[in-house]
Amino acid sequence: MSNEMGTGKAMDWSRGVVLRAGEKSLGLYQPSPETTGYWQGVDRHELLLKECRDCAALHHPRRIVCSECQSTNLAWKRASGEGVVYTFSEVHRTAGAFGVSVPYVVGIVRLAEGVHLFSRIIPTATRKVAIDVPVSVDFRVLEEGYLLPVFVVREN
Ligand SMILES: [Zn+2]
Repeated sequence: MSNEMGTGKAMDWSRGVVLRAGEKSLGLYQPSPETTGYWQGVDRHELLLKECRDCAALHHPRRIVCSECQSTNLAWKRASGEGVVYTFSEVHRTAGAFGVSVPYVVGIVRLAEGVHLFSRIIPTATRKVAIDVPVSVDFRVLEEGYLLPVFVVREN
């Protein structure tokens, strides 16, 4: 299993171990047909959502059917990249490459568009991560060498 996505890196986060749940592969950074466009956006430093072309509802990047009108006519739309912290957890113990970064924060961001995304959330020197704190998307290469969207706390 080694997909390429413009970063020139093999998508082998599990180090050759194929992890499966029934027919589906599990993976942090393993593009599926419905998310390939999302990861191409990440390579361009663009955060993309799915937009329904029939009713204009916005959805999580993995969605393949509109939950409002059941249309499968979904297209990529660039998100504002602005949101607020919906919930979060501070990680103090972890294994592997992430150990160099503890403590770090992961959580769910509610985007201005109403879509929720799970991500790394990064405090600033003067403002901690907290519920409802405003955040902006940024794109950073994290511990395992992959470019990923993260959210950085805004000062205002
Ligand atoms: Zn729709």
